[in-house]
Amino acid sequence: EGMLRVIGSLTEKQHGGFLDYNGEILPCALVTGANRGLGLEMVKQLLEAQCSKVFAACRDPDGPNSEALRELAKKHPDVVTIVKLDVADPCSIKESAKKVGSLLGRNGLNLLVNNAAVLPQKTMLTATVEDMQNAFNTNVIGPLFVIREYLSYLKTAAKASSKPGMSCDKAAVINISTDSGSMTIMPEIIDPFPFFPYSISKAGLNMLTVYTARDFKADEILCMSLHPGWVKTDMGGGDMALIDTRESVEGMLSVIGSLTEKQNGGFFDYTGKTMPW
Ligand code: NDP
Repeated sequence: EGMLRVIGSLTEKQHGGFLDYNGEILPCALVTGANRGLGLEMVKQLLEAQCSKVFAACRDPDGPNSEALRELAKKHPDVVTIVKLDVADPCSIKESAKKVGSLLGRNGLNLLVNNAAVLPQKTMLTATVEDMQNAFNTNVIGPLFVIREYLSYLKTAAKASSKPGMSCDKAAVINISTDSGSMTIMPEIIDPFPFFPYSISKAGLNMLTVYTARDFKADEILCMSLHPGWVKTDMGGGDMALIDTRESVEGMLSVIGSLTEKQNGGFFDYTGKTMPW
């Protein structure tokens, strides 16, 4: 019944689109660092959440660290597309955006998740120039250029949506941040966690969130920083951490799904709690 109602109401506006039986556009998402840890779990759960397309971006699609992602993509070839994307390499970002652009429908890209990151384990006294550059290249400059290269697709999505206001179904950038990038929380985290290059770069990522939210507000593209909790991944230190990837991503997707313009430019954790900058 629903499908026939949708079919009966189609006009040129819906041409090339991907709708559900209620006539809603099914969102299309891209996640960076999607081959393991939180990124891989996010692809799995976006798939369960019925995204029309999930672009799973990773720097080495054919490598051993991407085997689980390749298996997932093989099982869901219509939805999951693996895209080669090294966020520390501006040429790779450009190439990936070209490829994604050629595969996107006319409804654009609704959700961009800047998840990929590195954590050089160094303190203020031991960090080398290279450690600082690696952290900044991957954790701040990467997300900046990813946003810039994918901006036109986000704008297309915002324009194609008939929904009022801002939402992740319309157009949103989610920057995966951390409590150790918070200038309020960091002084309270007891050493010996050697997070120096990471913390400083994530504080920079938080400022990127504020800029993005301000500069693309008129385009109705929402942007927020999201702390996933302390999660059992390679970066999180495995079983030492407090929660597993499923719990973290379920929480993050629930927060992402409830976003409106009120949260634009904000910093939240995976339970929806406001984080101090
Ligand atoms: P993991 O170390 O498990 O995974 C990191 C991911 O980032 C991998 O897919 C890795 O790919 C990818 N990556 C690293 N550098 C690049 C690059 N140059 N280009 C593309 N991909 C890259 O980390 P988590 O899953 O735990 O972390 C995901 C996000 O969550 C990060 O932003 C992190 O800062 C944040 N976070 C995590 C916490 C935790 O407790 N786990 C706590 C707070 C924040 P590859 O396999 O190729 O190395």
